[in-house]
Amino acid sequence: MILIKGGRVYDPLGDTDLPGLLDVLVDGDIIVSVTAPDDDQDRKRHVEQLAERGLAEVIDARDRLIVPGFVNAHYHSYDTLVKGLVEDAPFDLWAMHSQPAFFGPRSKAELRLRTLLGAIECLRQGITTVQDMCTLVPQDEETLDIIASAYREVGIRVVFALALRDLAELDIAPFLPDDLSEAVRRSVTGTPRDPLEDLAFVDSQIRRLPSGGLWHWGVAASGPQRSSDRLLEGVASLSDRYDLPVFTHVYETKAQTAKARRVYASQGGSMIRHMAAVGFLGPRTTMAHGVWIAPDEIDLIARSGARIVHNPLSNMKLKSGVAPIAALKAAGIPLSIGCDNCSCGDCQNMFQGMKMFCLLAGVADPNPTGVHAVHAIEAATRGGAQAVGLGNVVGAIAPGLKADLSLIDLSTIAYLPLNSVARQLVFSETGQGVDTVMVGGRIVMRGGRLTTVDEAAFRAELNDAMPAFRRDFEVIRSTAALAAPALLEANRRVAALDVGLNRFLGDLW
Ligand SMILES: [Zn+2]
Repeated sequence: MILIKGGRVYDPLGDTDLPGLLDVLVDGDIIVSVTAPDDDQDRKRHVEQLAERGLAEVIDARDRLIVPGFVNAHYHSYDTLVKGLVEDAPFDLWAMHSQPAFFGPRSKAELRLRTLLGAIECLRQGITTVQDMCTLVPQDEETLDIIASAYREVGIRVVFALALRDLAELDIAPFLPDDLSEAVRRSVTGTPRDPLEDLAFVDSQIRRLPSGGLWHWGVAASGPQRSSDRLLEGVASLSDRYDLPVFTHVYETKAQTAKARRVYASQGGSMIRHMAAVGFLGPRTTMAHGVWIAPDEIDLIARSGARIVHNPLSNMKLKSGVAPIAALKAAGIPLSIGCDNCSCGDCQNMFQGMKMFCLLAGVADPNPTGVHAVHAIEAATRGGAQAVGLGNVVGAIAPGLKADLSLIDLSTIAYLPLNSVARQLVFSETGQGVDTVMVGGRIVMRGGRLTTVDEAAFRAELNDAMPAFRRDFEVIRSTAALAAPALLEANRRVAALDVGLNRFLGDLW
């Protein structure tokens, strides 16, 4: 048992400016009580039990804010080593620098290190759960085992889903010029996959490595426009069979939207209505991005019970446009926040995500939007937990939930003076204040130092692995550079199309 004593415990239903001082008692991986100091019989009884068992650890949480561990509801672990290598690239050009298919098989050491790197960055920022929408190259048990083992090693909670796609071409392919060289055509069209084989692999792995401890399964199709109906139906049926959340990317870019207008003509050009028609839209569905959703589709999503993960950093870095956060919130769609790829946001930082969640709601509307700091925190905690299928497991500091939480140092500059914990957590915190992190009752970071990984040794191993990675990345960069003129031409064509709505700002479009 661990007693976290006398911290300000963030409670969305309590005083979010100055939360009360409380004691949090953790037994095993569960929060057993959250009580006022000194006056609670339950806590006294628990502390007596602690003393009897001789297992007591008391963490002094004076000057600490105790917040639920953040849930990074949309993330990909496969390209963490690309951090800082790509800039000023619209979505499809960026994709050529980041997607596992372009990299081919990687060494075992690199698979482990890249998984650890992303997880370490998350933990250091108070993120205790990641939804890793991953792709295995090659898609085999050994590759999966290396990744799962790295997650166990670092001690973060993961909702793991293999992002399947059987249609390989880039989203923007229909808008490319006709006169592509054969080499460029090959690189942008890719190789289709057998959906039944991939679905069978996912099915077998869910049974081989069942959910338990910090490991949870989800299922995923990379995007409706990258999937045959057979694949979407297969993923939905796996979700039904195992009661798992379903993840996918939806309407991230204008090109995807323009493509939807063509390929879903029988559904009025709506990707959302197509998802509903094939049984892929329901209360277990969580859609990443949702930038280019039309108002009637927002209503349809709200009625279906599906959820949206907002990814403000990657949306901005990839020039995807501004998601209609205030409208989604007003429609009652449950929202969460993702930090997405390290190659297109370049950090796993929920503080940046929460701040952008609030600020971006305002750039399209000069009037109050009703999107406040408390809503960003809600999206980063309980909303995220619900989005990844862990709504009854994590997302709050409450008895019966898993002990996933962070202690944030209120003596750091972000909280001086302490006027509002909620607003300063969202608008002032950079991540510097995250001091101690617990996942499933285990302290994985204490006083700013990870307890599960020797970070000096990790840095040395990472440095050793980088020369080979950088060499391979230069090949990828030159393949992408060959395709860049055609991709940028297609991007210009898409920008000029009328898809019935606009998610860019200003007068340029
Ligand atoms: Zn994504």
